[in-house]
Amino acid sequence: MKVTFLGTGTSQGVPVPMCDCKVCRSTDHRDQRLRCSVYIEYQGKDIIIDTGPDFRQQLLREKIMHIDGILFTHSHHDHIAGLDDVRCFNFKYKKPIGIYTSAAVEQRLREVFSYIFSEVQYPGAPQVYITRIKDKVFSVKGVEITPLQVLHGKLPIFGFRIGDFTYLTDTSFIPESENEKIQGSKVIVLDALRQTPHPTHLHLDAAIDIIKKFQPQKAYFIHMSHQMGLHDEIEKLLPENMHLAYDGLKIEV
Ligand SMILES: [Zn+2]
Ligand SMILES: [Zn+2]
Ligand SMILES: [Zn+2]
Repeated sequence: MKVTFLGTGTSQGVPVPMCDCKVCRSTDHRDQRLRCSVYIEYQGKDIIIDTGPDFRQQLLREKIMHIDGILFTHSHHDHIAGLDDVRCFNFKYKKPIGIYTSAAVEQRLREVFSYIFSEVQYPGAPQVYITRIKDKVFSVKGVEITPLQVLHGKLPIFGFRIGDFTYLTDTSFIPESENEKIQGSKVIVLDALRQTPHPTHLHLDAAIDIIKKFQPQKAYFIHMSHQMGLHDEIEKLLPENMHLAYDGLKIEV
């Protein structure tokens, strides 16, 4: 499995417009974070998790040529806003793209992108179909995926386990029921917004504690805000098997 981090920043991205903090002024490319999304190449299939506002730019940067399915974790704007940009794949392959998510996220997509789902199709509108998932293993063109149900503040959202890879963005709490599904992952990607606690996201110390519990070979933190601090400085403070992810990072699992 090859995993490419398309974006690793919080909802505002980093740098934040008009901010002149040291992180936002940093010239280190790892301090420049687009909104969170990940591209997974596995068993000959191409899977995307979340399509944020920077999706077009991420497709161009990583030269992504094909998508077999899009998994949505939840319906916050920074995770869905780029859905319209699947049109290029519709035009090239003359096929709709499969979306896999909860009934609640589906409802929100139908509201936000009403033109995609209207009975009278706007010419050139994105072509998608939605497969509703719950708490059972599902398949994207033969690739088995285990949905993980975690909390983002009070909002129940999805994480996903694919093979030995677990992806948990926008997480503040992992219910015990999910531990067994996560256990044994070789790589865990986990939300770590900043250094101080936050009501709807894990902060760095809490994320480190969770990783220590699951003991994967490697862990990567995502959804960082500019308040996390400079990538280079924070990276040096982390335990050996833990890293801050950065945009464009590619890993083999
Ligand atoms: Zn988010
Ligand atoms: Zn800043
Ligand atoms: Zn969110």
